[in-house]
Amino acid sequence: MDAPAIRRALSRWRRELHAHAEEGWTEFWTTAHIAGILQNLGLSPRVGREVIDPGARMGLPDPQRLTAARRRARDEGADEELLRRMGDCTGVVTDMGPQAAPLVLAVRFDLDALPLTESHAPEHAPAANGYASRHAGQCHACGHDAHAALGLGLAALLQSGPPLRRRVRLLFQPAEEGVRGAAAMLDQVRDAPCFLAVHVGLGQPTGTLVTGASGLLASTKFDALFTGRAAHAAKAPQEGRDALKGAATALLGLHDLPRYGDGESRIHVGELRGGGARNVVAETALLRGETRAASGDMAGDLFARARAVLEGAAAMYGLACRISVVGEAPAADSDADLAARLAALARSLRTEQGRPLFAQVKEQAVMGASDDAAAFMRAVQAAGGRAAYAILGSDLKAGHHAPDFDLDEASLWPGLCWLAAACRELADDEGSPA
Ligand SMILES: [Zn+2]
Ligand SMILES: [Zn+2]
Repeated sequence: MDAPAIRRALSRWRRELHAHAEEGWTEFWTTAHIAGILQNLGLSPRVGREVIDPGARMGLPDPQRLTAARRRARDEGADEELLRRMGDCTGVVTDMGPQAAPLVLAVRFDLDALPLTESHAPEHAPAANGYASRHAGQCHACGHDAHAALGLGLAALLQSGPPLRRRVRLLFQPAEEGVRGAAAMLDQVRDAPCFLAVHVGLGQPTGTLVTGASGLLASTKFDALFTGRAAHAAKAPQEGRDALKGAATALLGLHDLPRYGDGESRIHVGELRGGGARNVVAETALLRGETRAASGDMAGDLFARARAVLEGAAAMYGLACRISVVGEAPAADSDADLAARLAALARSLRTEQGRPLFAQVKEQAVMGASDDAAAFMRAVQAAGGRAAYAILGSDLKAGHHAPDFDLDEASLWPGLCWLAAACRELADDEGSPA
């Protein structure tokens, strides 16, 4: 494929992935589709069980949902041989460049959608143009469809140019939402002296590129299942143990925990379900929440306090409370030297008309959110390497995680050109990485 063909394909790939939105750990169609395109480019992608440590997956859906998603992928035309190789795991890794050459860079793209029903309003471009999610309750509302398309574009662009001198590894990571997937893929960055992740949007407009976001918040995602005893709500309420009241008390207690004076922190309960009938004391209630903090120490303290609130509320109402951690990411910062190098490169790039490729290039921005990429960043940094988290600005129609989220596809091509240039520079410059 030549550059104009890749540029056209970028939007097509994004839209195909958008229409087949699959939430974390169910990206079977997505995995097969990406791997198929990579194979057609002459690459040898590894998939599913070949790249994932099954025991390290967090927040795994129940087996019936995994089976149903796999079956759906097959019904939608996913390649049988690839599905067989995947097993019950999703995700793709492909290496670019000579097999015997050292690995110089790993680039992470995420694959998953959100458990959210997409808008079908006529002003929502995916609905108006026929590529809205065909999967009820699953929606690419964070831009990971664009990330995966960028990964495919990167593979195509690098394949279309002269051979790389050293190896670049592209990771297509499952289950980023809820920070559940990176831990199962950490082996894939073990030997990488450089790591790069990119996210679209995040408050930056089209034309802006941030090459080194910092302040990725540590996050713990938890489920708390309260179990009490059902009883007649009028005849014998005293015999009941009301799980719903315990969970509701915990929700307010969690949101009432103090913030920290020396760094950012967040606590949020996004889901509360319990009971089943108006006149029955609720036997069970499920609360789903998350904590986030600027440092590991703060994150540990905040989650310990959250646990005390959950257990305390359970004790108040005579309930059992089972707390499960279903996702976890560390705090992370980009390395300033790598961010500066990537920014200098971005500033040097020009469009075909000779104009700067980006209107604005920033070396830093405060993230104020979490990303599973932090686990990769910390692993690479702990081994003495460099990591950067980039934000590719994109004008958004609605915020991330909203049912009418939509990005500006015009923002993708400049981002892809920069990614390809970054891979070339790091792979071909014998002096790199720093
Ligand atoms: Zn998201
Ligand atoms: Zn995201």
